[in-house]
Formats: sequence, structure tokens, C-alpha cells
Amino acid sequence: MKRDLKALQQEMFDVVIIGGGITGACLCHDAALRGMRVALVEKGDFGGFTSSASSKLIHGGIRYLPTGQFWKVRESSEERAVFHNIAPHLTRMLPFVVPTFSGGLMKGRAALMAGLLLYEAIGWGLNERIRDPSKKVPNSRFVGKHELTSRFPLLGRLEGLSGAYVLYESHMMSSERMTLAFLKTACRNGAVAANYVRAVDFLRANGKAVVGVVAEDVPTGQRFEIHGRIVANAAGPHIPFINDLLPELRLKKRPSGYSKGVHLVTRQILPDHALTLTTRKKIEGVITRGGRHVFIIPWRHRSLIGTTDVPFSGNLDDVRVTEADILDFIDDLNACLPGLDLCAQDIHYAWAGLYPLMVREIKPDTYQGTGEYQIVDHEKQDGIQGIVTVFGAKYTTARRVAEKAAERISAKIGKLKRFRTSRSVPLAGGDMGDVNQTRRHVQRLYGDRLEPEIIDHLFFLYGTEMHDVIRYGAKNPMLLERLCDGLPTIGAEVVYAADQEMALTLSDIVFRRTDWVTAGHPGKEALERAADLAKRCLGWDEARMKAEMVRVEKAFEVIRSIRKEELR
Ligand SMILES: Cc1cc2nc3c(=O)[nH]c(=O)nc-3n(C[C@H](O)[C@H](O)[C@H](O)COP(=O)(O)OP(=O)(O)OC[C@H]3O[C@@H](n4cnc5c(N)ncnc54)[C@H](O)[C@@H]3O)c2cc1C
Repeated sequence: MKRDLKALQQEMFDVVIIGGGITGACLCHDAALRGMRVALVEKGDFGGFTSSASSKLIHGGIRYLPTGQFWKVRESSEERAVFHNIAPHLTRMLPFVVPTFSGGLMKGRAALMAGLLLYEAIGWGLNERIRDPSKKVPNSRFVGKHELTSRFPLLGRLEGLSGAYVLYESHMMSSERMTLAFLKTACRNGAVAANYVRAVDFLRANGKAVVGVVAEDVPTGQRFEIHGRIVANAAGPHIPFINDLLPELRLKKRPSGYSKGVHLVTRQILPDHALTLTTRKKIEGVITRGGRHVFIIPWRHRSLIGTTDVPFSGNLDDVRVTEADILDFIDDLNACLPGLDLCAQDIHYAWAGLYPLMVREIKPDTYQGTGEYQIVDHEKQDGIQGIVTVFGAKYTTARRVAEKAAERISAKIGKLKRFRTSRSVPLAGGDMGDVNQTRRHVQRLYGDRLEPEIIDHLFFLYGTEMHDVIRYGAKNPMLLERLCDGLPTIGAEVVYAADQEMALTLSDIVFRRTDWVTAGHPGKEALERAADLAKRCLGWDEARMKAEMVRVEKAFEVIRSIRKEELR
């Protein structure tokens, strides 16, 4: 996967996609499988905006049950099965503990049991579609209070606790690498994708039809044209602002605003189960259940906790976590789980993303997403040929939405011949039989050179592409060593990212290609080691290397700041 700006300029593409989040990446993949010539531009790094800020769940759609959107439950459950087949290495089934309480109707055992029976009935038959037996979704089960609290003593202080249901949801090992896997597969099928290229304007023929985009190479500021028969705007929260370049373009529903969702990476709370809680703050919703839901998910020997819901009206290019976000969230968590005693010192990293909302009034502490998406053919809707907008897909449903969009685009340009379907074609690294067998095989294969933890880490992030990563160690065995104690990331991953995965910055490498620092700062010396490797691969001078390190450090500024505050 090479960044080739000349290739973007040299031909007439069938479709030019704006945005390399999960929606754009899935569209790129599906369209390339249909035999279309596809270009994709991403103004930052692939998957670096909302798609890296999610809870990383490929959920079966249980959150759509209370609102009666049963078709969305089925759609999400179907997509979960697809992800398990096409990217088995990047998904893991995780047991979620959902406490039940005596007294309250909606949080009682009977209500939850009824909901789960319905949930499983809607997903009926989908396990048969999953090829690998270890990837099938187990049924939920009830655990009584005694067993629950002896296993998880922390839950013992929950007032009115009567037990819990344990249900299984799918969690991504790395949402960043999942997005990348779609793009890598698309590029192998002929697509041309480039990060750090911003679409700044539409190209028009005789002031009418859209025939491509004016693009800007972000590092140099150089502008060039990319020509295409259709432009697909898949720029996530930025979509309305890009479409505003042409006043005629309208969405079916324009977002009324945005809500910011923050995740925290904390000390480990539960090692191998996720926990669902409701906060104490009362919210209004279709069904009022107390507060909003939060998930505490095991993550890299730590816990990933999400999410907040805070109305956001700032600059979309400056979505950051504030001290107040973290401290308020800590208060919420301590209030809903007595004995948790989370403090600033327990926070290792935090990130934020935006939910676009279609509601009249944006309320704090309230999840107002509906999962609705729109594919707008602006020729039909607004009389402007050559542009389609794809807006509002969840991570879980992005492939499905992209498939529908690609179907419409191929019909518009007369390329109806389908070659292969994105429902079943394995993504880069995902072409394997039984996951457990493959895992045992690579453990045997590399057991003489690498520790089991490193082999597992490489297997679950890169799948069968782990062989390519390890090959870098043949010439230089030091690249097979850990970058820092305690974490299994090795030097070869840095080189692989720079050499083969279009990483242009140190942040691309340490946050998105390797996932190395997403569980917390690895220490200055280790970061310097990684930066030095990147410097040699990418031809940086000393000043550039320092600047890259400063950018990584900036992402930890708020964490440092809250920790100091507590010490003062
Ligand atoms: C806090 C939070 C938690 C979530 N958790 C989950 C979850 O667990 N499971 C789930 O299924 N969904 C979840 N979601 C929803 C999901 O993350 C998003 O719906 C999804 O990532 C949107 O993907 P996207 O590609 O449409 O947008 P984005 O990921 O935002 O991608 C759009 C891309 O377009 C680029 N772009 C913008 N302007 C331009 C331009 N002019 N030129 C070129 N590129 C441009 C941006 O840089 C960006 O990378 C969550 C969302 C949030 C906010």
C-alpha cells in the first residue's frame, strides 16, 4: 500500500471517495470488488477521526430494542456475523455483565430476560452463517447474586442487586486496523487511496455536473485535480460542510448538532468480562432507565470505559478531551459503582469522538443516536449529477451501508456486473480457517524466536500478515524485541507501518498502525526508540523527529494535567 499522488491524477475514476473512515473504507472495498476504478482521499490519517474514537463494539444492535427498531437489530446482528467471517483475527467475543435489580421494572430480571429472548430471536439463524465455530455468538445466561458477587466482589455494593445477565458482544482488537484492513484489501483490488489529502472543492463540468474534486496534499499544500464519474462524500461529521460548497446539495435530514463522546483508559477493573452500568444522572429518553449506559471493557490489561454525551458546538477539527470531561466522568463512574474509587491517577489515556444528531434538542448525558443513515443521490434529489452522499453509518453497519451505496453507484454508471461480495471476501490478514488452529500453528512456527504474548499480539492485530511483519526481523533480529517492557509491540511493526502501510507520522504509527500507546504512555525512552526507527524509514531529520514526538506527547497533555492537579 503506497501513497501515490500521481496515480490519483492520471486517470478517470468511476468513483472518488472523500473520507477514509470506516464508511469510506468499506465503500472503497465494495466498489473495488465490483470492478469499479476507485480513488479515496483522507485529509488526516485513515480511520483517524470518529472511526478511531468509538467503543470498538461490533454490536448485535441490542440498543435498538427499546426503540422498537427491530430491523436495525437484525441488520446489526447480520453485520456482526459478517465481521466474524471476514476479519476473524480482529474480532473477539466478550462476555458483558448486565446487572439486574429488584424493584425497578426496567432494570429487573424479567424485563431483561424478555428483552434478551427477543434479541436472540431476532438474531435467529445467524450463527449458522459464521464459519469458525469459535466465532459463534453464545446465548446469554442469568447469574444469581451470590455467584455474581463471589466472582465480582466489586458489584456487591450495588443497591438492590438481584443478579446479572451475561450476554456476548463482539469487540474489535483494533478499530484502526479494521478500517485499514478494508482499505488494504481495496488497494489490492486496484483502488488508489491516499491519506493526508484533503478534498477542498468539487470539479464541475460547465458549472453543472460534479466530475471530481480539487485535492490538496496536506504536507506540501500542493493542489491537484482528481477526476471521477461519481464523487461519494463519506466524510462523516464533516459531510454537511463539504456539501455546503454547492448550495444546491441537501441531505435528507441535516444534523442539528453534535454530541461529544469521551472514552477513558483506566487501571484494570475486570480482567475478562465487560460490565454495563447506568449512571445516576436521570435522563429523558424513549424509555427512562435512570442514567445513560456506560461500558467498562477489558482492554490491553487495562479497562476501556465509555462514553460521555456532551453537546458539542466547537470546531470539528479540534475535538479534544478536556479536564472537565475526565473529572466529571470519574464522578459519574464512582457514583454508579460504589467502591470503584476511580481517581485521576488511574487514568492512562482518553479520546473523544462526535455523534452527529438529528434531534430538535441536544440533551446532555443522553444517548440520542438512532442509527439512521442516509444515502443521497443528489441527481435525483437536487438535480446535481455526479455526487452521492453516504452519511450516518455506525461502525457495525458501515459495510452494509457502503454495499447499498456501491450498488446505487454501479447502477448509475452502468457497471452492474458483480465480481465478488464484500459480505464474504476476507479482509487483508483475515484469510484463515479456524482461528484457534491458526493461532496454535503460528505459536509453534515462531515459538523459538518470539515470546507467546508477542506472537498472540501480532496474530490478533495483523492476522496472516504477521508473517510479513516478522520477516523484517530476519535481517535485523533486534526488530523482534519489545519496544518497551510490559507491552508486546515490537520494532518490526514500526518499520512495517512506515514501509508498507502508508504511515506518514509517528502518531500514525503509535496510535493507529500498532495501537502501541492507546493503553497509555510507554515512557519517553521507548517512544524515542520508536521515533528513531520511524526516522530512518521515513528519512526524517532530527528536527522532524523531535516535532513528531511533541505531537504524540500532546495527546497525553490532558492526562498529565489531571494527574498533576491531584498531586498539588
Ligand atoms: C464516542 C463514540 C462511540 C462509538 N462507539 C461505537 C461502537 O462501539 N460501535 C459502532 O458500531 N459504532 C460506534 N460509534 C459510531 C461510529 O464510530 C461512527 O458512526 C463511524 O465511525 C463513522 O464513520 P465514518 O467513516 O462515517 O466517519 P469518520 O470516521 O469521521 O470518517 C470520516 C473521515 O472523513 C475525513 N474527511 C473529512 N473532511 C474531509 C475532506 N475535506 N477531505 C478528505 N477527507 C475528509 C475525516 O478526516 C474522517 O477521517 C461511536 C461513535 C462515537 C462518537
